[in-house]
Amino acid sequence: MNLNSPLFDKVRTRPVAEEARPNEERGCQYPGCQRKGDFRAPRGRDYEGQYLFFCIDHVREYNQTYNYFNGMSDAAVQAFMKDALTGHRPTWASGVNGAPEPSATKIDSAAILRERIERLRRMRAEAQAQSSKKRVGKLALKALESLGLDETADKASVRRRFKEMAKRLHPDLNDGDRSREDKLRVIIDAYNYLKTVGFA
Ligand SMILES: [Zn+2]
Repeated sequence: MNLNSPLFDKVRTRPVAEEARPNEERGCQYPGCQRKGDFRAPRGRDYEGQYLFFCIDHVREYNQTYNYFNGMSDAAVQAFMKDALTGHRPTWASGVNGAPEPSATKIDSAAILRERIERLRRMRAEAQAQSSKKRVGKLALKALESLGLDETADKASVRRRFKEMAKRLHPDLNDGDRSREDKLRVIIDAYNYLKTVGFA
């Protein structure tokens, strides 16, 4: 655990309410986790002085959702939090698989947490997909496709694939078979284009 993070400084210096102290009875509030909740994390900006309790693995995961907000404006963070807290909540089946029925507080905080983490994952995936789409133009995509690759390809794999295909298609290496020359020309054009846009 990174004890030098600003989050932990904040936790250490903030006065702790009596009910915010972890105890033996408190379970990890991560959905489905049956371990002890020995580690606490602040519930969020709108809940000053309130904490959630997790096992070591889940306090780390929860804290990562806070790192995600670094660099976001206050307004964007508020909007995200508001949405996560007031938006759709998953319904909770209690006592599934013989697990003890969780308390009302546990259901509430677990639902908030799960919602927040799931939303965070979706946002990250969408942001990554968007940025890779933006970076690759239509012509580059087409060129990559003709080499059997997509926008995730790096320079080394583009070069390697081009060499393999060129070798397979070149008439000099195919007993003078010229039927593959058209295809060869297509991949040479594709490769040259990819070089001009920094993909090879
Ligand atoms: Zn846990």
